[in-house]
Amino acid sequence: MNKEVLEDLLFQVEKPARYIGREINAVNKSLDQVEVRFGFAFPDIYEVGMSHLGMHILYNLLNSKDDIYCERIFSPWVDMEEKLRKKNMSLFTLETHTAIEELDFVGFTLQYELSYTNILNILDLGNIPIRKENRQEKFPFIIAGGPCAYNPEPLADIVDIFVLGEGEEVLLEIIDCYKEWKRKAEPKTKFLENICHIEGVYIPSLYDITYHEDATIKAFISKKEVYPKTISKRIIKDLDDVYYPDKVIVPFINVVHERAMVEIFRGCTRGCRFCQAGIIYRPVRERSLDKVKELAHELIRTTGYEELSLASLSTSDYSEIKPLTRHLIDEYGSKKIGLSLPSLRLDKFPLEVIEEIQKVRKTGLTFAPEAGTQRLRDVINKGITEKDLMDAMENAFALGWNNVKLYFMIGLPTETYEDLDGIAHLAKKVVDAYYHTPKEKRGRGLNITVSTSNFVPKPFTPFEWYPQDTIENLRQKQNYLKEKLRHKNIKYNYHDAKTSFLEAIFARGDRRLGEALIRGWEKGCKFDGWGDFFEYEKWMETFEECNIDPKFYANRERSYEEVLPWDFIDIGVTKKFLINENEKAKKGDLTHDCRISCTGCGMNHSFIGGDVCNV
Ligand code: SF4
Repeated sequence: MNKEVLEDLLFQVEKPARYIGREINAVNKSLDQVEVRFGFAFPDIYEVGMSHLGMHILYNLLNSKDDIYCERIFSPWVDMEEKLRKKNMSLFTLETHTAIEELDFVGFTLQYELSYTNILNILDLGNIPIRKENRQEKFPFIIAGGPCAYNPEPLADIVDIFVLGEGEEVLLEIIDCYKEWKRKAEPKTKFLENICHIEGVYIPSLYDITYHEDATIKAFISKKEVYPKTISKRIIKDLDDVYYPDKVIVPFINVVHERAMVEIFRGCTRGCRFCQAGIIYRPVRERSLDKVKELAHELIRTTGYEELSLASLSTSDYSEIKPLTRHLIDEYGSKKIGLSLPSLRLDKFPLEVIEEIQKVRKTGLTFAPEAGTQRLRDVINKGITEKDLMDAMENAFALGWNNVKLYFMIGLPTETYEDLDGIAHLAKKVVDAYYHTPKEKRGRGLNITVSTSNFVPKPFTPFEWYPQDTIENLRQKQNYLKEKLRHKNIKYNYHDAKTSFLEAIFARGDRRLGEALIRGWEKGCKFDGWGDFFEYEKWMETFEECNIDPKFYANRERSYEEVLPWDFIDIGVTKKFLINENEKAKKGDLTHDCRISCTGCGMNHSFIGGDVCNV
């Protein structure tokens, strides 16, 4: 796109900085020196995508290779979309403002089921046919990865290549094959056949699905004997060895998270039974203390950020968390660089550490007890007690905190109204703990925010067979809690039940949902995760037109024998383990943290090749 046309466009839209690129640390390459052009597409707006750690890692990794140019693509906001459509212009990359149809690959990260329609919108705005069967030789390959790729089937009609697991190595292997294939000038199908043997690669066009009369899946069939029957996820064995950027792009405008992020470990050993991340990212692999220090130093130096976040699923579980935070506070506290530790667990609440951090920058406190009663917390294997919460709260109030956020989930398997009463009871106990704190110690004015999300059963969890609570039930529960939580110090927030219903449909969907996805988008559905845009009625009309019963996906209990749409994927953790965990949940039996001793999830045998995980 030429400069004048772009400038003209930018003058007409809100926040032009979303589209100009050229930020600090953005990569600039000469196009005639690169062999492969990759568009990293985040199916949401710039501010959301730029806060995503995975994007920064893969962007810099690909650009660390001289012959690859990775550029960024985001969903344009509605004003920009309108202009592009009106002027018949293609969506473009941020780095060189190239029309995305001219790239070799467009790669999507799948973080959330409700961003699927944005993928379709991006392709359409880029003049790329949505259905893979309509993309002739000249169009880029559409590739996708990320947590939602663990059930790739709803996008099987759209995406050419899925990457299952950690992309750092796989992507480079795919691109190497691409270079070879391009030189030979073979048909597109040949390339897909060539890469289907790379571990972690799934090519949906090479497989067929058959169904029983009751609409459940009969079989997953490879079209040729030579195609792999199961697809194994890919993991990086040593985090110290794998690429991590020493600089990241610093946006010109405010984005969701404005901070440098160092990933301290991958995986989680806790085994909460609703949690997909806790299973799919197994096993735990820590980055060494020295490596984390070195990366933190470089990232602060190259970005100028005033906040450093230690990213992981459960930060307080990092075995060197105390020496690490001590070092970072000593090193950067005097420079007023704040430290943020997201994802802290209540039972390992490192108050001394938090207190130190607070001296640099004051933040609120967030805890996730998830369920209101001990019984239900045991069902979900949360492994924390009311005492853990109350001890943490009492200490926090005595140190002057007065802003607390408590996260719960409603609609969990076996939940009763007693469990909801438990949420209200806990919140009130927290209020009492504040008023029992001596006046001279506690902060002035107490604000407690109780938030409930709706349980969405996810693939590869011990709860993958459970029905989701109906919209009506969830609403009743929310209204019940609204009454119970009426209190001057408590604010109650809850998620929309209808959006959670759509999320549940696509989370456990199969290939037949591809048609509904396309039809929904054609009717105008996009930004479904944004409350202002979500159009429930349009979705229900869509399902009816496509002859799809959405409750079949969201509200139906599955048997252990049923073939699930993601059964062909091997994530290392065995189905036997998940079934066993589900049975233990029904009895309220706990499974201990596997850092203590192996719980036999299967990961050690499949991926580590030994008897015990290296944790
Ligand atoms: S602590 Fe529980 S919820 Fe958090 S990542 Fe681990 S398994 Fe998931």
